[in-house]
Amino acid sequence: MDYMKLAADATIVGMESKVGGPFGATIVRGDEVVAAVSNTMLRDTDPSAHAEMVAVREACKKLGTMDLSDCVVYATCEPCPMCVSVMIWAGIKDVYYCSTRDDAAEHGFSDVHLRKYLSGEDDLVINMVKVEDREDCDHLWEHFHELNK
Ligand SMILES: [Zn+2]
Repeated sequence: MDYMKLAADATIVGMESKVGGPFGATIVRGDEVVAAVSNTMLRDTDPSAHAEMVAVREACKKLGTMDLSDCVVYATCEPCPMCVSVMIWAGIKDVYYCSTRDDAAEHGFSDVHLRKYLSGEDDLVINMVKVEDREDCDHLWEHFHELNK
């Protein structure tokens, strides 16, 4: 089966129904298609609803696990750092993509600000402030361990 085509087809459906932008992703386990989705940012008013994020969420729900280490992702475009992150959190090892980050940027979907922040090249895009230690926050670790004895 052409998993990239499934992602591309889902993208067209998503764009035509104004669900999201020109991105799609398929998640496959063995030869089973677990999810074939489009970006859903517009429908969900959700900046995190990139196709790969939507696909990981759907696959985790469907399979009842957060461990997708036996799954492979096919994305119509090179995943942004957020999507790379969620795929790493889910244990995914193999990702195939077609269009590149440069192609995306050419069409108005640049992720270069994220990449520059993560590489340390530009730390002005967000203020990350470490506040003084607080008892209520510190206590959460203990509470977690109490609950998980
Ligand atoms: Zn993304």
